[in-house]
Amino acid sequence: MPTQAKGWGTDAADQPLKPMAFERRDLRPDDVAIQISHAGICHSDLHMARNDWGMSRYPMVPGHEIVGTVTDVGAKVSRHKIGDKVAIGCIVDSCKQCAPCRAGTEQFCEQGMTMTYSAVDKHDGTLTQGGYSTQVVCRDEFVLKLPDSLDIARSAPLLCAGITTYSPLRKFGVGKDSKVAVVGLGGLGHMGVKLAHAMGAHVTMVTTSPEKGGDARELGAHDVLLSTDGEAMAAAAGRFDFILDTIPVAHDLNPYLALLTPNGTMVMVGAIAPLPSIHGGSLIMGNKTLAGSLIGGITETQEMLDFCGQHGVHPDCEFIEMSQVNEAYERLLKNDVRYRFVIDMARGL
Ligand code: NAP
Ligand code: ZN
Repeated sequence: MPTQAKGWGTDAADQPLKPMAFERRDLRPDDVAIQISHAGICHSDLHMARNDWGMSRYPMVPGHEIVGTVTDVGAKVSRHKIGDKVAIGCIVDSCKQCAPCRAGTEQFCEQGMTMTYSAVDKHDGTLTQGGYSTQVVCRDEFVLKLPDSLDIARSAPLLCAGITTYSPLRKFGVGKDSKVAVVGLGGLGHMGVKLAHAMGAHVTMVTTSPEKGGDARELGAHDVLLSTDGEAMAAAAGRFDFILDTIPVAHDLNPYLALLTPNGTMVMVGAIAPLPSIHGGSLIMGNKTLAGSLIGGITETQEMLDFCGQHGVHPDCEFIEMSQVNEAYERLLKNDVRYRFVIDMARGL
């Protein structure tokens, strides 16, 4: 029999989230059942709930930063057992056969990855539902192990904000001698600062919010640059060999590209939107690279969790109860988050 789950979700882009009852499927042989203890609130949840990207399916229970405890396993599962502390991120299924899957980039599966929510389950045609809920059922290969050294209550944001910043930092070889700028101090940005710091880089926080400067330094930034201060931006030209841009809306990239050293790279993870034009010279003058990055694969997500376990990297969480999700969305829109909302299921639905 499928399990009755409770959660909060929405029926349409213009509707607030509300309590919802729905079913979690009966375990398949390779499935794991998880009691969710915490779920992070990513700005993407807000984009998806409001159909900003034109790809949303309803009814939708959002949430792709999920941690909890295994309560049951299917007949063929050997990698997880009842009682294990585990996590699920943005991907719950893929073909695992195609070249991108074999290369560890399941997010680019040729048959399409199955997203944790608002996606069609390829096996039974149902809609996947996310982590703002009491339980979840997930294919074992997409369930990550939480290292013992991580505090489970503060780990959920690693599953999206963590991997989305870890992956490009690693791909572009950020390390001891790197001069890194992280643009936008929100959920992703604060993980970018912590991770780049833990990798040994010299980190500068680039922010629109002067009042966040002190926090940025506490999070591990060595320097803070106010992007609205034209003089300071001009003085910082050519200073960074890697920039991670997490701004969630369309914006002019030219002022940020000007901050790169020759051969420097800027990676965008935030703005999935048409952008104002870029001057070709912003890239050509200095052999600069502009790139994008989408979350990270399953093996790399486990590597990121292990890295955070080894280096004691935990997100800064503001814990809320489920009934506060709509308020949390409004605060996200107002840039009022320090630095990730996390729903604590123990506080009730
Ligand atoms: P967030 O917590 O809302 O943080 C975004 C930060 O960007 C804000 O705190 C603010 O920082 C800055 N910002 C906001 N509006 C701005 C504006 N108009 N101009 C300049 N800066 C602005 O969001 P998040 O959860 O970190 O997510 C960031 C973006 O990444 C979202 O669009 C999300 O959908 C996307 N995302 C992408 C991936 C991926 O795989 N690529 C994965 C997860 C999320 P300051 O106050 O410091 O300026
Ligand atoms: Zn996310």
